[in-house]
Amino acid sequence: MTDLYRFLPEEMEQLVIDMGYPRYRADQILLHLYYKFPKNISDIKQLPKQLINDLIESGYTIGSAKETHRIVSEDGDTTKLLLSLTNDKSVETVLMQYEPSKIGGHQRSTICVSTQIGCAMGCTFCATGQMGFETNLKAEHIISQVLHFAELLQQRGQHVTNLVFMGMGEPMANYDEMIRAVKVLTHPRGFGLGQRHITISTIGIKSGIEKLAEENLQIGLAISLHAPNNELRKKLVPTATFNSVEEIIESGYNYFKKTGRRVTFEYALMSGINDSPEIARDLAKLLHGNGSHVNLIPINPTAGDFTRPSNNRVHEFERILSSSGVNCTIRIEKGTEISAACGQLRTDVIGQFTKKIS
Ligand code: SAH
Ligand code: SF4
Repeated sequence: MTDLYRFLPEEMEQLVIDMGYPRYRADQILLHLYYKFPKNISDIKQLPKQLINDLIESGYTIGSAKETHRIVSEDGDTTKLLLSLTNDKSVETVLMQYEPSKIGGHQRSTICVSTQIGCAMGCTFCATGQMGFETNLKAEHIISQVLHFAELLQQRGQHVTNLVFMGMGEPMANYDEMIRAVKVLTHPRGFGLGQRHITISTIGIKSGIEKLAEENLQIGLAISLHAPNNELRKKLVPTATFNSVEEIIESGYNYFKKTGRRVTFEYALMSGINDSPEIARDLAKLLHGNGSHVNLIPINPTAGDFTRPSNNRVHEFERILSSSGVNCTIRIEKGTEISAACGQLRTDVIGQFTKKIS
């Protein structure tokens, strides 16, 4: 069985041509896939019956995610879904909506997708990391998370405006499927999302960052740094020791030079661990002058024995970075009360889902 959602437009053309049909049949399929969200190949009514049969008989399918649970935050801005994928795995995907009054401009609807079930990186503060690694998701599984929300938004007269790879898993550890999903989702004849509206978050796998820089895409890159030195970072990201802090920062800088896109360094602040003024000064020295941006994320205590620093401490950390000339913001996490903030998705919250189902 091969899911038609895996196919790039050029591949879809080749597929119909190889089956003996004219090229334009590919466009009819693509238009349906990305605007009408069909659940079966036979739903694509414009296609000749024979092509539908040929596709089905050759083992092609259209996979879609099935929503099994939903929780909505009290302010209604964050929706977390538990989706059952065609690989029979359950994955959490989140929609975060930002009202124009809060951000200026137009309403933003950001989808946070997962690329793996679990994660092998084992970050000590991350709920996904503590689950261990289960499996890589295929491109179609990543795409179906986005399309499920796209259909939901379409029914409300809205659309997906942004996409972040900040759900479960390490995108660079599933590079080929992740990048295929990005290419389908950004292709003007695919889902057509602007490249600049996508951010990939990585724990800092240098080889993956280098590959991404060569893709000739305008994708945003976020690198989860969390510490300015290797000793401390090893305690927080035990398996990421194959790339040093210096190497990670250098590959971020190279990404910036190659793509012109400013790189964001994410820094989860944990009380008494990585939030001292001395550490802030070390971080400032490390990042000063390389055009990067730091996003401070007061930790959500979902795994391990970590607590969030006081607001004063967070602001002091921010002041030290800003006054050293390092561009810095504090991330206001959305949906924290429903554990929907990025990086804390996990599949073993069925209890929570059934308690809070909307
Ligand atoms: N594996 C990738 C992407 C998924 S995690 C990465 O690590 O970047 C997305 C973001 O959520 C990362 O910046 C991660 O550090 C952060 N995160 C993980 N657990 C968190 C927690 N408990 N509180 C706040 N941020 C967390
Ligand atoms: Fe994996 Fe990212 Fe969680 Fe680390 S923070 S365990 S890399 S998902």
